[in-house]
Amino acid sequence: MESPIERYLQRIHQEISSLKDGKPYSTIPAMANVNPDNFGICLTTVDGYIYEVGDTREEFSIQSISKPFTYGLALADLGLEAVDEKVDVEPSGDSFNEMSLAEGTGRPSNAMINAGALTATSLIKGSGGNARFKRVLNTYSAFAGRQLTVNNEIFESELEHGHRNRALAHLLRSFNIIEDDPTPVLEDYFRQCSVLVNCLDLSIMAATLANSGRNPMTDKQVMEIVPIERVLSVMTTCGMYDDAGAWISTVGMPAKSGVGGGTIAVLPGQVGLAVYSPPLDEHGSSVRGMATSQRLSRDMELHFVRAA
Ligand code: GLN
Repeated sequence: MESPIERYLQRIHQEISSLKDGKPYSTIPAMANVNPDNFGICLTTVDGYIYEVGDTREEFSIQSISKPFTYGLALADLGLEAVDEKVDVEPSGDSFNEMSLAEGTGRPSNAMINAGALTATSLIKGSGGNARFKRVLNTYSAFAGRQLTVNNEIFESELEHGHRNRALAHLLRSFNIIEDDPTPVLEDYFRQCSVLVNCLDLSIMAATLANSGRNPMTDKQVMEIVPIERVLSVMTTCGMYDDAGAWISTVGMPAKSGVGGGTIAVLPGQVGLAVYSPPLDEHGSSVRGMATSQRLSRDMELHFVRAA
């Protein structure tokens, strides 16, 4: 039987379906042919209840929603201090692919923009190539509670067209922020962006963050609480790039968007929210993802700043 929450989600889904603004990501040709009408909403609570409506089983590439999970793995591997030496925790106010590195040191502002994300990938333990990426993929899979895979067509397309990321990786190498050959780092970063997920996976990944690193569906502790707390803090201030201020004012939850059309938002201790809708706004975030998150936050009082 349908629950009142599902009936409510259906109503929101229907209303927000009429929002037709934005365009799917086209920089990577393999991603340009997506159906712009795809639209799914999924909520997973920390006690394992799932509420979903629309295209929640349609797969798409995770893109930048990979960044908090890779950052978490780097923190778990090396500890906060060592990672902080390489990547700061300040909002940059810049767009995701900006060449924003600190003057003199080359240290990226945070791990949610590409410069910091490439650095985080370079810090993951493993001997490069598959060994490192296998750990990254296993981590995402543990958060999702199922084995995830890479879409090779998107990966190849990123490799061929990701000139800006290539430039960034070499710039980071020149500052010794990335300490070894940037090519395998870039490849692993492109692979991590090309991991396929659906809206249900993302909501379970978000719920695992909300549940202090314990996946509510598999009941496995997939990451320790210290990296999780740091990841959520940086998602709060930097997860939505140069739209982070507007997001935190109107939605009030740590969040991350990706150019594949996914958006996650996390209410610690309560729920993980995921939305899938490919048309993007000027910040590279999903238009309906923003609208849905704002609406749910308001109606369900999810904003973490609440008057008593
Ligand atoms: N693969 C994309 C890039 O690195 C991811 C960007 C995003 O989702 N914002 O440019």
